[in-house]
Amino acid sequence: MKMFMAALDTETNTFAPLPTGALAFAEGFVAHGNATALPENYCSAQLYVWRRRAEALGWAVAESLCAYAEPGGITARQVYEGFRAEIVADLARAMPVDAVLLALHGAMVADGYDDCEGDLLTAVRAIVGPEVPVGAELDLHCHLTEAMMQAATVLVAYKEYPHVDIPERAEHLFTLIADAATGRTKPVMAAFDCRMIGTFRPTAQPMRGFVDRMIAQEGRDGVLSLSLAHGFPWGDVADVGVKMLAVTDGDPDRAAAVARHFGETLFAHRKEIAPVFLTVDAALEAALDLPVEAADGPVVIADVADNPGGGAPGDATFFLWRVIERRITNIMLGYFWDPIAVRFCFEAGLGATLDLRIGGKCGVASGEPVDRRVTVMGLAERVTQRFGAAPVAMGPSAWVRSEGIDLVLCSLRTQTFHPEGMAALGLDPRAPRIIVVKSTQHFHAGFAPIASEILYASSPGALSKDFATFAYTKRSGPYWPRDDDPFVP
Ligand SMILES: [Zn+2]
Repeated sequence: MKMFMAALDTETNTFAPLPTGALAFAEGFVAHGNATALPENYCSAQLYVWRRRAEALGWAVAESLCAYAEPGGITARQVYEGFRAEIVADLARAMPVDAVLLALHGAMVADGYDDCEGDLLTAVRAIVGPEVPVGAELDLHCHLTEAMMQAATVLVAYKEYPHVDIPERAEHLFTLIADAATGRTKPVMAAFDCRMIGTFRPTAQPMRGFVDRMIAQEGRDGVLSLSLAHGFPWGDVADVGVKMLAVTDGDPDRAAAVARHFGETLFAHRKEIAPVFLTVDAALEAALDLPVEAADGPVVIADVADNPGGGAPGDATFFLWRVIERRITNIMLGYFWDPIAVRFCFEAGLGATLDLRIGGKCGVASGEPVDRRVTVMGLAERVTQRFGAAPVAMGPSAWVRSEGIDLVLCSLRTQTFHPEGMAALGLDPRAPRIIVVKSTQHFHAGFAPIASEILYASSPGALSKDFATFAYTKRSGPYWPRDDDPFVP
């Protein structure tokens, strides 16, 4: 038996002003067939699992591309086409294979390709023919498309957000594809369109219970796998939205019924699971009003609209401006993507005081830059922060202080995952009274252990949460929250 595997992962915010090209992938991760011979990272985690499982069964493994770019704007056409050509050529060389496993995102858009994953899976299917099982693991922030459903044998999405279950889902997908490859099962898929657009947090009820019920149903009554595709609201594509996916063993009607049951259950809870976001001022006021003992740790506010993990620039200043205008002190904001400011800090040196222009450099979604006299409190060449178990590079980074405001500036665009990015620069994460992080939800795993309270705020930024008014040009049909009940004709 022989398994072919590859990984291609980026999430595309079609509204973001940052092109995703070869440099974005080079700064993320690119390996041409040897990712599992290199240290494990966010992108290669699944390939590690699949190689271990295949080799334990005595299968041969053909490993192809592993490529990741931090989410951003539309991917350059030649970059996507180059990656696709590499995977297709490697697969053609590896033939005949008995199974294909792909680690994809599901919301990748390239110039000329609204559905990169559907396009890639179709190309793979064309080579292996109709019988070979093809499995793909997707981010739950995916657009589940008809092309993906047609070309793949099994699709499995992460269930957790923060995505702490990527290796666990990889293990399950391997089992499902191995069972199909050895003739033990005949997986069939069905999806239910929930006609919803939004973001959801499995860390809180009633979403937590929904995810737990999905997990409890798997492996019972012919249900092989259940996935909730949350969708990625910042993709202007025809399939944007929430979809429920069920995989059963040879029973398409049962798959459709189970997908509908879970999808309708989710829809019934739509108002309870829609996350609440404070305004910038309301979040700051709430943080200041909380009776915080120093021992309790800081109040952590998520600046969800400038999350680079959703394609935002990561240098927006809306929060920082309000903090300055309100004269709030004992507060840390970060991590600002500002390689120019970092460079100036390195040139000036540790302990130097200088006039620094911070943020506001990428476009209107970044707000106005902030000019401040700052002191360079910490510098480090190679700062990393953990996302799950894997280190994420921040590049050369600086900690600067100005009148009671601490800022962490980084050179590589990344969302704020973990307080160790502060600690690496000498800034005690427990010291500030308030911490404002550029992240929607992934910060939760790293910051919850030190936080006395967590608040979510929506500043203007690139990731607006006003889903009812998004200027979609390709999606047809009603959806909640634009329509109160999109199932009523
Ligand atoms: Zn995601």
